Amino acid sequence: MPAINLSDDKTVLLHTCCAPCSCAIIEQLLSEGIRPDLFFYNPNVHPFDEYLQRKASVIAYARKKKLDLIDADYDPETWLALVKGFENEPERGKRCSICFDIRLKKTAEYASTHQYKLFATTNGISRWKDMDQVNHSGRLAALPYSGLAFLDRNWRLDHAQAKASRITKEEQFHTQNYCGCIFSFRPGK
Ligand code: SF4
Repeated sequence: MPAINLSDDKTVLLHTCCAPCSCAIIEQLLSEGIRPDLFFYNPNVHPFDEYLQRKASVIAYARKKKLDLIDADYDPETWLALVKGFENEPERGKRCSICFDIRLKKTAEYASTHQYKLFATTNGISRWKDMDQVNHSGRLAALPYSGLAFLDRNWRLDHAQAKASRITKEEQFHTQNYCGCIFSFRPGK
C-alpha cells in the first residue's frame, strides 16, 4: 500500500464500534492534528438496549472532543440475513469477516460520497480481534472507490490498550464483555 500523507488528508472518517475501542485511536489522531469524523454503524450489536448504550458513550465522547458524528442506521435484520448460515462460526471466523465487510463497506460508501480521502476503523484495536482480518475487510471495502484509501495502521502500538483502559475508567464509559452480536452474547458472561 502506498504511504499515506495524513497532513494532506486532514479528515479521516473513523468507523467507531464503541467508546472503549475508539478513545485511544481518537486521542492518537488528535495528537497528530487530525480531527476524525466518527461514523457509528453497528447493526451487529444485540440487544437493542446494548446498542443504545454503546452509541450513547461514543456520542458523549464525541461531544467532549467536539468531533462530528454520523449516526447510521441500526438495521439488524439486514445484518442477520447477511450472516445467515454462519451463526455457529467461532469468533475470528467467516461470520466475523462478513460482519467487518458489512460495516466497512457502508463506511467506505459514505466516505466516498462525502469526499473523504481516508477512512479507518476501531475494530482492530482489541486483542480479541484478528487485526489482519479487519484490515483485509477495510482494504476490500475501499477497492470500488478511486480517491479513497483505507488507513490500515496497527492501532495497538504505543501502549494503546493501556491508554484505552485509562480513558475508559476516567470517562466511565459503558463497557461490555462480549463482542456484540447475538452469537457472541452469553448471558451472565
Ligand atoms: S463476534 Fe463480533 S465481529 Fe464477529 S460477527 Fe459477532 S459482532 Fe461481528
